[in-house]
Amino acid sequence: MGETFCFPLKQHIGAQAAPTIVKGDTVVRGQLIAYKEENCLGANIYSSVSGVVTEVTDNSILIEADEGQDKSYKKLTATEPLALIEEAGIVGLGGAGFPTYAKLSKPFTDDGVVIVNAAECEPVLNHNIRAIEENPAQLVRGLEITMDVVNAKRGIIAIKKIHTKAVEKLQNILKDRPDSDIEIHLLENMYPMGEERAIIRECLGKLLGVQSLPLEAGAIVINAETVCRIEEAVDLKKPFIDKNMTVAGKLKGNSNLIQVFFDVPLGISVGAMFEKAGGLSEDYGELIMGGPFTGKRTNIDKPVIKTTGGLIAAECFPKGPEKIGILVCACGANKERLEEIAKSLGSEVVGCEYCKQAKPVKDTRKCENPGKCPGQVQKVMALKKAGAQAVLISNCTDCSNTVMSCAPQLKLPVYHCTDGALRAVNEKLVRKIKS
Ligand code: SF4
Repeated sequence: MGETFCFPLKQHIGAQAAPTIVKGDTVVRGQLIAYKEENCLGANIYSSVSGVVTEVTDNSILIEADEGQDKSYKKLTATEPLALIEEAGIVGLGGAGFPTYAKLSKPFTDDGVVIVNAAECEPVLNHNIRAIEENPAQLVRGLEITMDVVNAKRGIIAIKKIHTKAVEKLQNILKDRPDSDIEIHLLENMYPMGEERAIIRECLGKLLGVQSLPLEAGAIVINAETVCRIEEAVDLKKPFIDKNMTVAGKLKGNSNLIQVFFDVPLGISVGAMFEKAGGLSEDYGELIMGGPFTGKRTNIDKPVIKTTGGLIAAECFPKGPEKIGILVCACGANKERLEEIAKSLGSEVVGCEYCKQAKPVKDTRKCENPGKCPGQVQKVMALKKAGAQAVLISNCTDCSNTVMSCAPQLKLPVYHCTDGALRAVNEKLVRKIKS
């Protein structure tokens, strides 16, 4: 039997896609298997493998892949760039999964700028930077296409200055385009530099309110891999079927702890990806889909979907205190995720506080000024008062620094939501960053 690939019908913001195939159908790689219904926000879904449809449910399509797959694919049919982007089923690959054609559907009428978010903000994840190092021209070409689609006068590639190799490669490409309207903006190495409004603040000097969209600053912010998939859709007529990703953590052999895979076929299982990375170690705490700050717990049977950027096998959980307080950041793990981690530590949550900049917006929270700490002493003291013997936090780098300047004095050990992932790859924990 061939490997089974699973394609959930909803991998993005908007309505779920409607199947075009039935059980028993034969499909080829790049064939449309579920379509975005007309006048709905959504995204087409294509098979990333050739094979046979073994199941179609209300939520997903299963395909048994033929042996011996190749990289060829059925091509898109549209002719105009925006129509190709829509037909390809591209969504924002930074995590949110907003359909890209919708983001690009209202061209600027005067000055507009497209900012490529190449911050690769989450620690451990490395696939965006590696992709730029391997093929900087694709990113630049994808940005040029995007600028044309939205009639933008300027393009900015926002990237952390610590990624010297990727920055140099981009500079070399831009050197050959003296008339280009694209520039590089170097970012500090702080979390959450990749937050949309943080990027706009850093690149354009405008701090948007929590309810505001980038368009209010005359900007569109788009993830680095999304831009590369746009290039493929427009120049190669390739549907969105493959994904770059990082696989890391507690792997067999304990070598090569962070691995990058390019063009992983969507729908492959989490377990199969860990096998490709050498196999899971026998002891690990949890499997995380996404990055250490915002990833969610997953298991080996789940599929890789359009928004999957990372898979991390985290370190085993230490034994936590009996009673713990949680401090929630708008840009890191949310309340539910911190409660899940607290349970794995064996701790009862006796108090929950939110960073005072984490303002409620619809069913989530957004930070008023991402990465600039308003001070956390009051919040930590409130958790102590609630009976916490330690605090579990998901704060940004700057706020974690502030927590570390008060919690130890209050005799409260600090746990961070990223600890398991960072320990698994021997990286420095998010704690005090300056004296
Ligand atoms: S200031 Fe607060 S809400 Fe904003 S990123 Fe830092 S911890 Fe999160």
